[in-house]
Amino acid sequence: MTEIRLNHPENREAPPAEVRTMFRDADEAAILDIERRYQDLLPPERLEEMRAHQTSFESGEEFRADFARRFGQAPEAGTLGWSLGPTEAAHVSTSEPGAVPEVTYHERLHQAADAETAHAVAEAWHEGMTQAFTERATGQTHEGEERAPYPEETARARGVAETTGWEAAERLYFGGDREAMTAEVAGTEDRPKKDHA
Ligand SMILES: [Zn+2]
Repeated sequence: MTEIRLNHPENREAPPAEVRTMFRDADEAAILDIERRYQDLLPPERLEEMRAHQTSFESGEEFRADFARRFGQAPEAGTLGWSLGPTEAAHVSTSEPGAVPEVTYHERLHQAADAETAHAVAEAWHEGMTQAFTERATGQTHEGEERAPYPEETARARGVAETTGWEAAERLYFGGDREAMTAEVAGTEDRPKKDHA
């Protein structure tokens, strides 16, 4: 039964306990994977903060209400997660249960990012890079899919990373090493992190 519910797009009920455990496991797995890949670039305090704040998994209704309380407006259609840094929980909607592990990983990456860099670079690069790192970790791209998280931004950020080297992108994204910041990456926008899938 669990699998059927997991893949059922119209399911709007709160997921059963086994599925909630899977979400929790996905949250822990995301942190472990991020630590394993990027620990040389991550201050230990940032990882500690991330561990101290378990991701909040919310039904579609809870997610929308919480988002509206926080930002004073309803989330755009397709928004499945948001986070504001490692010192508070990320929020993930369970309205599309099959997307939860990927959205969770994406939000955990935002939390692991160097905050100053995240605000100094173009939003498009930061979102695209977040999704490019996510897809590299999951091994699943959304190529050819009708609905995909930031498809153009991801393709562009991946292209930049392939030119400068992924390591340079990692040093900038996680480590705040501005030497890796090229004109394609720089931006001046200031905005909260809200995600659309
Ligand atoms: Zn994002």
